[in-house]
Amino acid sequence: MEDLYSVRMRSAKGGSHEHGGEHISGAERLVHRDVLSAVVMEMMERALQHEKGQPDFINLTVELAEAAIIRGLQALPADTLPAKNVEEGHQLAVDALTEIGVSTYAARQAVQLLKTGPSPKGGVMRGAIIMDAETGKRLEPDQHRGVRATKIDWAPETLMHWGDAVSQLGFNRPRVWEAIALAAKVVNHPCTVAELCWSDDPGYVTGYVASLKRGYLRIPHLKKPGDPLGGRVFFVRTTDFNLAAYIEYLEQTPAIINRLPDGMTKKEADLL
Ligand code: AMP
Repeated sequence: MEDLYSVRMRSAKGGSHEHGGEHISGAERLVHRDVLSAVVMEMMERALQHEKGQPDFINLTVELAEAAIIRGLQALPADTLPAKNVEEGHQLAVDALTEIGVSTYAARQAVQLLKTGPSPKGGVMRGAIIMDAETGKRLEPDQHRGVRATKIDWAPETLMHWGDAVSQLGFNRPRVWEAIALAAKVVNHPCTVAELCWSDDPGYVTGYVASLKRGYLRIPHLKKPGDPLGGRVFFVRTTDFNLAAYIEYLEQTPAIINRLPDGMTKKEADLL
C-alpha cells in the first residue's frame, strides 16, 4: 500500500452547512498523488453542476492518508431485489433488514424516517443516522448533520476489473460503485448490522440494503421520481459499542477497496 490523498467535497445553497445552508452534494475520493489535481478539478465541476441547483458554498478538503493506516477491504457482492413499486420496495427493504438481524420495529422506523425526511426540520441530512438495530433509537450526536463515512475509494485496478465484470448488468456507474465502497467500509465495522440507503437526488429512485451477511442488495424503487428526500441509516448492535470510536472509524480510518467479491469473474457476474 502507498500513501494516498483523501479528497472530500461538500456543497450547499443559502450559506455554508454550518450556517444553515441547504446541503446540495458531497463526494469522497482517496487517490494517488499523480492524479490529485485532476480529481480536485473533477470534483469542483461536479459540485457546480448538480441537478439540485447551483451551490453558493463549496468546501474541498485534501488530506494525506499514510499507507500504514489505510485498510484494504473486499468489495461487497451486488444483487438486485425485484421491486415493482415503492410499496414493494419498502417491504423488501424491511424484509431484508429483519433477515439480516435488525428488529422489525427498527427497520420500519428507518424507512419512515427516510420517507418523511430524517432531519428534525423534516428535510435531508448531510450524513447518516446511527440507529440501534434492536430498539430503533437514534444514536448520532447531531440529528441535523448525521455522521459521514469518509476517506473511502476503490483501488483503480480493482474498480476496472469490477466494471468489466458487471458491465452487462447496467450498474457500472459512479453512483453504484461509490455506494458499494461506502457500504463496504460501513459494514466492515464489527458493530454494524446493516445499512439502508436511498438518494436524495429527485431523479434517482434506486436504493439499497447492505450487510456483510447478504452483500449489497439494490432495490429499484425506494421512492417516487421527483421526491427530494432520502438518507442513510447505519444499524448497530449496542453490546460492547463505543459511539465515539464508531464515529472515529467512519470519519477517520482510510479504507480502499482492493479486492473483488469472492469468486467474481467476468463470466460469473454476467450470469447474475
Ligand atoms: P446520496 O446517495 O449522495 O444522494 O446520499 C443520500 C443520503 O445519504 C444523503 O442525504 C445523506 O443523508 C447521506 N450521505 C451521503 N453521503 C454520506 C456519507 N459519506 N456518509 C454518510 N451519509 C451520507
